[in-house]
Amino acid sequence: MQIKSAQTETTQAEMYYPFTFSSQECRAAETKIKIPISEHAEKYQYVARGNHTGAWRNDITPDLAFIMDTIGEEHVREVIFMGTPQGGKSNVLLNALGSFIDQDPAEVLVVFPTRDDVREFMDDRIIPMLENSPQLSQYISPNPDDTAKYHVKLTNSAIIYTGWANSASRLASKAIKYICLDEVDKYDATVGKETDAISLARKRKRTFGDTYKLIITSSPTREDGHVNKAFNAAQVQYRRHVVCPDCGTDQLMNITGIKYPEDKTKEEIAAGGLAWYECSHSDCQSKWTEAKRNLAVRAGRWVRYKGQDLEKPTTIAFHKPGWLSFDVTFAEIAVCEIESKTDHARLIDLYNDYMAEPFIESEEGEGITEKVLYDRREDYGPENAEWVVPMAASVITCAVDVQKNRLETEVVAWGEGLESWGLEYKQHIGDPAKPEVWANLDRYLKKKFRHESGIDLKIAITAIDSGYLAGEVYKFVKPRQVRRVYAIKGEDAIGHALYAFSSKKYSGAKNKNLKDIHKINLCRIGTETAKDQLLHWMQIEEHGPCYMHWHMGYPHEYFKQLTAEHAIQDKGKRRWKPKKKGAPNEAVDLRVYNYAMIEVLNPDFEELNIEIAAINQKEDNPVKQIKRPVMVQGLRKK
Ligand SMILES: [Zn+2]
Repeated sequence: MQIKSAQTETTQAEMYYPFTFSSQECRAAETKIKIPISEHAEKYQYVARGNHTGAWRNDITPDLAFIMDTIGEEHVREVIFMGTPQGGKSNVLLNALGSFIDQDPAEVLVVFPTRDDVREFMDDRIIPMLENSPQLSQYISPNPDDTAKYHVKLTNSAIIYTGWANSASRLASKAIKYICLDEVDKYDATVGKETDAISLARKRKRTFGDTYKLIITSSPTREDGHVNKAFNAAQVQYRRHVVCPDCGTDQLMNITGIKYPEDKTKEEIAAGGLAWYECSHSDCQSKWTEAKRNLAVRAGRWVRYKGQDLEKPTTIAFHKPGWLSFDVTFAEIAVCEIESKTDHARLIDLYNDYMAEPFIESEEGEGITEKVLYDRREDYGPENAEWVVPMAASVITCAVDVQKNRLETEVVAWGEGLESWGLEYKQHIGDPAKPEVWANLDRYLKKKFRHESGIDLKIAITAIDSGYLAGEVYKFVKPRQVRRVYAIKGEDAIGHALYAFSSKKYSGAKNKNLKDIHKINLCRIGTETAKDQLLHWMQIEEHGPCYMHWHMGYPHEYFKQLTAEHAIQDKGKRRWKPKKKGAPNEAVDLRVYNYAMIEVLNPDFEELNIEIAAINQKEDNPVKQIKRPVMVQGLRKK
């Protein structure tokens, strides 16, 4: 007897089962998956959501059949699928689930990151899948209690339980044979005070010894994320090779093969679909359209990159980057790649959502020290020059940090692509509880900065941190909001938007009985988000978009503060923390606020440059104002 494993696409000589089964295998065989999951899916599965609803067809996503059939293999206990958002992970889970409940009615547990995910999965996927499949619908119980919110009891004794990552009690009790963990990298690192959701879910399969199945799917996040750890621990790792439709070369696609015209903007590339994939064979280098890519993927095969010699591996991992998905265009990836050069969040997207690789912060986090930044200070706006704002900059922002005995300010000039020039970093000594300190600040905020063109620029927008002495800050900004002087508050929640305005009520009187209630616009700033971006900018070495310039007047202490924090893993989450406890970091905060302010303003730099040029040309026709609101005042060149 010779049973080929379904779609034997291994690098090795074909994989065969041995001629006799062990006693363990005989036990397992009593409840085995009788027909391969991909075949079962094509016969009986219904897809309720996505681009291809209706009866499941293996030819729409030809690479998934082998993954599904691997799950069904008798010797396989755990399958890890590390892929991108459109990679078909959910369909693999659903098809496996349908096959389990039909072919081996047992208890199944599906775990999602949140309770909402569970509800959505039940309502939009599971129930429609059961109702629309003639084969599976026969098991739906007439008793409505059996189709409850979080579990489904079927008439053939299969039960689908669900759980979410922070529901420790739901994950702890029963023994379960089939366990599916979806999007595991979004699970909290700890479930209550016990242990992580994956370990808890794993405990539930113990009594099934060598007959259980565990499926783990997720987009990767970090190197120490759940899915990447499971991927690395697997005995066998598969990656998908494709075959060039033009030259027939078998190859692994790579991000470097995605090409686009360098002289086109990302908008043009997106609108015109102006990206392609270049065959890696040096004699061919043919340009693949998406249609050719689809042919290449169809002709491809899964190749073992680890565990080539193992005949009956129990843990098998698959890696599927975004470019293998027919719904993903090369232009989409090209745009993300272009954006990733100046946008830290997009760089992480490129790794996680397109390359299906974890993003390793240390690769780019190292080497940024106070010395590197201090040493690259420049000589723009030198002491004796009449101007301080270089030609390429056209908007000025200011940030204010309130300390016990002083205010600290930094004024920054911005140009196209958010290239920035630090103009002035200053300490205003005095107790901010006293009005004169604020009167001084008011004068300072009206200061004019001479532009290289000869006109004067005023501060277009100001952020004042209200973390300390909030009442004083509110009082100061209230009449000055029309000048875009805003109270801000740092929010260190992960994933907080860079900025968000909300209305804040405060009492203007010390005696709260007096009804002296005012309202201001409080700007909440996502400090973690901003710091990620700034770290990325600091590492840019070429003048141009996002490059940060500092002049020679910036003290060494400033750079010490600017690099005083680093991103570390804290209870499974990435957090910005001081490198040394209590080390001053006002310089970081000031830059964070300035960055948020220029984003609030979102000026059209191109337009501004035209206006500045126009002011300078009209020698005989003095223009006192720049029309755009970001420029409070512009004086004619002398
Ligand atoms: Zn080729």
